[in-house]
Amino acid sequence: MNVLISGAGIAGTALAYWLRRHGCTPTVVERAPAIREGGYKIDIRGAALEVITRMGLLEAVRRERTDVRGGSIVNAAGRRVASMDGDTFGGRTGEDAEILRGDLNRLIYDLTRDEVDYLFDDAIASLTDGPDGVDVVFDSGRKARYDVVVGADGLHSHTRALAFGPEERFVHDMGYHVSIFSVPNHLGLDRWELTYVGAGRTALTYSTAKDTGAKAMFLFAADGDAFDRRDRAQQQRRLAEAYKDEGWEVPELLRGMADAEDFYFDTLSQVRMDRWSTGRVTLVGDAAYCASPASGQGTSLALVGAYVLAGELASADGDHAKGFDRYESELRHFAEENQKLGPKNIRQMVMRSRAQVWFAMTMLSLMARLPGKDRLAAKVVEPIHRAATAISLKSYER
Ligand SMILES: Cc1cc2nc3c(=O)[nH]c(=O)nc-3n(C[C@H](O)[C@H](O)[C@H](O)COP(=O)(O)OP(=O)(O)OC[C@H]3O[C@@H](n4cnc5c(N)ncnc54)[C@H](O)[C@@H]3O)c2cc1C
Repeated sequence: MNVLISGAGIAGTALAYWLRRHGCTPTVVERAPAIREGGYKIDIRGAALEVITRMGLLEAVRRERTDVRGGSIVNAAGRRVASMDGDTFGGRTGEDAEILRGDLNRLIYDLTRDEVDYLFDDAIASLTDGPDGVDVVFDSGRKARYDVVVGADGLHSHTRALAFGPEERFVHDMGYHVSIFSVPNHLGLDRWELTYVGAGRTALTYSTAKDTGAKAMFLFAADGDAFDRRDRAQQQRRLAEAYKDEGWEVPELLRGMADAEDFYFDTLSQVRMDRWSTGRVTLVGDAAYCASPASGQGTSLALVGAYVLAGELASADGDHAKGFDRYESELRHFAEENQKLGPKNIRQMVMRSRAQVWFAMTMLSLMARLPGKDRLAAKVVEPIHRAATAISLKSYER
């Protein structure tokens, strides 16, 4: 089976790996000139850790861990209200691992680059789905026919727009904006994360073992506030306005955005679709079931989704429609359980009123002094762990 994958992120490279292992012939087209390095930290939990193990990457992932030792919640004066170890702060249990998105992407890419055809600096311009295959025209003018096309091109998937329709139908704004970018490590953080919670706006900064500098991240309530995705200056103005007059280190962190090459700004959104497949086209990862960065499960969903899609397609013996149906029925429950985390988590990450912030800070500082605080912390991690393990992975080896 000849499969074209659009997007060489985590979902796309992992899908290429598994398709190749099952004897299919994947081609990956990526809009960027190369695999993106660095980036923010992401978690690999539960079933996704099993996928990583079956790919033979567990040791490499362990080696590349961010090694963040812990995190603290701070108040406007910078006082640490509560501190936790890295795993509790990041909602991880057991072997769950935290790694930079770009490091994981590179590891999977390196595993596939000799056997998979990667077309960088190109993209799908048009798709014509027919009974014998999908005719694809690329931006570069290249033309080819594939048995199946998979959109692994993220939240704003172009493949989804071409095959299913405009993104307004599928991308649901959760009422918040998220921004993240690299900043100088002016607080001298050593593998530590600091989170400041203001009314309707949260700001955090962290350093990892893999960065020389630090990252600043902002999450703020922005009910339906539209912005232009191509206008970086406008996005930076929005961010500055949202945090106007905010205390702690916020002004200094915001100063870093002018020079940040990796400035990222978007709505916090989820993708919800009744079907992930149409004709010979299907979707995987954020393109199909983005759970939002607030879920902390986007990468795990992408890894598990890629594993299941490749396995079901390969075991359907050329019947792509059967493979797509099984992919949907195997994965849908897992995707929905993980999507439920997004709205739940964001309400804890961004508090709507001053009274809520005051109450949460008081509870946190009390909790920090309680003898049973570890049990309370375990309760916070429990729903994430349950969602992360809400699938038993088949073995598709033949
Ligand atoms: C700020 C932020 C914080 C996050 N935090 C976490 C976290 O803590 N834990 C977690 O698990 N997940 C987190 N995520 C989510 C996680 O990054 C994704 O869910 C995960 O990487 C899976 O993404 P993907 O491969 O489906 O899509 P993406 O990572 O978006 O990759 C899509 C790829 O497609 C390419 N592409 C786009 N358009 C085209 C096109 N037209 N043609 C060809 N190529 C194209 C892109 O360049 C990219 O390489 C976070 C995301 C963000 C933005």
